[in-house]
Amino acid sequence: MSYREIHELFVVCDECHTSLSVDDATYEDADNEAADHGWQCDELQGRHYCSLHWHVECHDCDITDVGSPDELEAAGWHIDRDYPWDSLCPNHLHLTCRECRKWDVGPRHRLEYEGWQVNSADFEKSLCPECAKTKKDTK
Ligand SMILES: [Zn+2]
Ligand SMILES: [Zn+2]
Ligand SMILES: [Zn+2]
Repeated sequence: MSYREIHELFVVCDECHTSLSVDDATYEDADNEAADHGWQCDELQGRHYCSLHWHVECHDCDITDVGSPDELEAAGWHIDRDYPWDSLCPNHLHLTCRECRKWDVGPRHRLEYEGWQVNSADFEKSLCPECAKTKKDTK
């Protein structure tokens, strides 16, 4: 009697049911493997999403959205690729002052109203209201 047994594990997208073969990896390795392929793996809830169906949630207002990370970023999301559940929706910017490292989070119009000079190319290089003012004064 001969036997041949094949163990193969697949990671399945909870959104579209695409599956990714990870051979005979352990569950833990499977997550790492999937992450290498651009998948989102939620260890807490055991959910997986393929690179087209990331689930992001704004940690400021709990808005959620689904899509590929690039798509979502193009739509204005600020995605934390390691912790997609800690992302910021298009309405919530996380700005850091390039001068004093002060930071703030909020809707763009509120931050601009408060005097932030938003650097759209790199939010980490924005100017806080105080520094924006000092800059103006010394000019
Ligand atoms: Zn999918
Ligand atoms: Zn938000
Ligand atoms: Zn500053």
